[in-house]
Amino acid sequence: MNEAQRSGIALVICAPSGTGKTTLIKRLTAEFPRFAFSISCTTRQARPGEVDGRDYEFIDRELFLRRRDSGYFAEWAEVHGNFYGTPLASTRALLAQGRDLLFDIDVQGAEQLRRSMPEVHGIFIMPPSRKELERRLRGRLTETAQSLERRLAAAEKELEKAPDFATWIVNDDLEKAWQELRATYIAATLSPRARMAFLDGLLAGWKAGEAGDDR
Ligand code: 5GP
Repeated sequence: MNEAQRSGIALVICAPSGTGKTTLIKRLTAEFPRFAFSISCTTRQARPGEVDGRDYEFIDRELFLRRRDSGYFAEWAEVHGNFYGTPLASTRALLAQGRDLLFDIDVQGAEQLRRSMPEVHGIFIMPPSRKELERRLRGRLTETAQSLERRLAAAEKELEKAPDFATWIVNDDLEKAWQELRATYIAATLSPRARMAFLDGLLAGWKAGEAGDDR
């Protein structure tokens, strides 16, 4: 089968902070260049080095709220006082072009995304234990005691949402977690939804062949 014949797939990956999600996502998008990045809109100020239209589309609150209320976003969230949202139309356009998409958003965002794009495949990455997550977060050195407690409390809330996701990966060993993520991605590309165009072509050819046999 020609890989170009399949349509794009959408993955949403959620994980409590400190679970290795960023490392795993980097590896996936580096190995599979078919991934495109959907550019979110945000109301926060651009940081030095960030480019409008590449990192985010930086817009003001008024425009964001107008877009939100008109159904422009596949999902949106308020994070630390700023709004963030994923545009639905450009996301759908990328999938139609056969590009794969990966959404790195929080569990609330994932819940909304499932509603606006039911075909999205949800992957939840878990730490092996609270103790191990605490050890990893402490190892980051950037965590104050207060922010550590906050992240651990948030992790518990996030873990409670894990049953909403189709795939669970427990990151007790980064290499094993990576192999599981890679396998999940490949399996998703083999789904009927991703390969429907192939079957349509196969059956069209089949019918043409049948007609030929009749003559
Ligand atoms: P930052 O401002 O550091 O770029 O991102 C802050 C937070 O916003 C991160 O946790 C990031 O995952 C989240 N975020 C970025 N874009 C979106 C988006 O389109 N939707 C949602 N729900 N969260 C986002």
